[in-house]
Amino acid sequence: MSFSPLGLSPALLTAVQRRGYLQPTAIQSQAVPLILQGRDVVAAAPTGSGKTAAFALPLLQRLAARQPSRPRRLAALVLVPTRELALQVDATLAELGDGLPAAPKRVVAIGGVSINPQLMVLRGGADIIVATPGRLLDLVAHNAVSLGRVEMLVLDEADRLLDLGFGEELQRLLALLPPQRQTLLFSATFPAEVEQLAASLLRDPARAGDAGEQLVAAIRERALVTDTTQRTALLRHLLQENDWNQVLVFVASRHGADNLVQKLGKAGIDARALHGDLGQGRRNRSLQEFRDGTVRVLVATDVAARGIDIPQLPVVVNYDLPRSPADYTHRIGRTGRAGQPGLAISLVSADCETHMRLIEKRRGQRIPREQAAGFEPQVTAPAKPAAPATAADSNGGIKGRRPSRKDRLRAAAAAAAAAAAGEGGPAKDD
Ligand code: AMP
Repeated sequence: MSFSPLGLSPALLTAVQRRGYLQPTAIQSQAVPLILQGRDVVAAAPTGSGKTAAFALPLLQRLAARQPSRPRRLAALVLVPTRELALQVDATLAELGDGLPAAPKRVVAIGGVSINPQLMVLRGGADIIVATPGRLLDLVAHNAVSLGRVEMLVLDEADRLLDLGFGEELQRLLALLPPQRQTLLFSATFPAEVEQLAASLLRDPARAGDAGEQLVAAIRERALVTDTTQRTALLRHLLQENDWNQVLVFVASRHGADNLVQKLGKAGIDARALHGDLGQGRRNRSLQEFRDGTVRVLVATDVAARGIDIPQLPVVVNYDLPRSPADYTHRIGRTGRAGQPGLAISLVSADCETHMRLIEKRRGQRIPREQAAGFEPQVTAPAKPAAPATAADSNGGIKGRRPSRKDRLRAAAAAAAAAAAGEGGPAKDD
């Protein structure tokens, strides 16, 4: 199928061609016509599915159809969970929108950088703002922008927005928007909180996409069992044995990231860290050096890496396991993008085995455990239950309240974090 039947204008079809997209991804062919019709849309779309263009294309087309106004009136608002994602969404809007007869004015409103340039650039108004919630509220408080005439609202990576604790800021922003508008909600996962948000926010929404479909098809997942103390050596070995040109390594904490970068450096492997303690300039530089191939290894925490798009990233390594199954999905979603094959390797030590099983259970799949010659674990996991992990595992026959799903996830995450503590311990990012 080509892009032609989706209803896009000739200028946008040319832009799509210029970007090298030969055919629409599943989410694009489903969502674009619905959005062009003016429908509210809930889209199940992980990073890597082509979700950005799925909302950027119809958004640009609908904006182009408006009567121009001076000063410019903010018509479209895209809310994202991280600064990196904001810059990426803006870059996509720029590339796709550049050929339009009247390209809309875009402003990126993100924290971590001085607010002054954003105040300045908003003086002439804007057509589209791509923002993280906190900074946008600051700009509203400065009277730099009014949200009262927004016609299109996009919540991108809605699950991450809520995960990162933006729920309250989101509600404050939503209260400033006019009720009459088109709302699009994109999310990789649909926990109850996201469903609730969708139910409260969207009017008669159409549904599009199938979360996980593309990831599962393209990504090979492996789990290497080793000791906590052997992980760095095993990672070095993997980097030396394989000719992967880019490897994204996930760790649990900022300190852990710096530590690992240092250890790899001592072994002659050039790596960069990406975490919330670094200034935005350093983060951008690390990312750029990784993108352009100056460094081969990027060691990142979850928050810093969320939403970053590195085309054709071949390998993701979970040096520390993620805290939640949703984080696991997001991490491995950095590879296998846009149909390219990807590989996700998790290093699993005995004390993280229960946590890994919980992740597998939530995702409804089991990854065979493997060992690498020379890195076999000396410490073994506690006796495995005969059947796959069950809800009662973590309660092991102890009488009393049956742990809730949240309790179990918390307990397993605490165990994983404790295991990582030897490498610096967990720290909330951002
Ligand atoms: P996203 O899910 O928006 O983060 O996009 C993931 C990657 O897929 C980005 O590098 C996009 O440039 C690329 N992409 C988006 N749509 C298409 C398409 N129709 N054909 C090929 N690549 C695409």
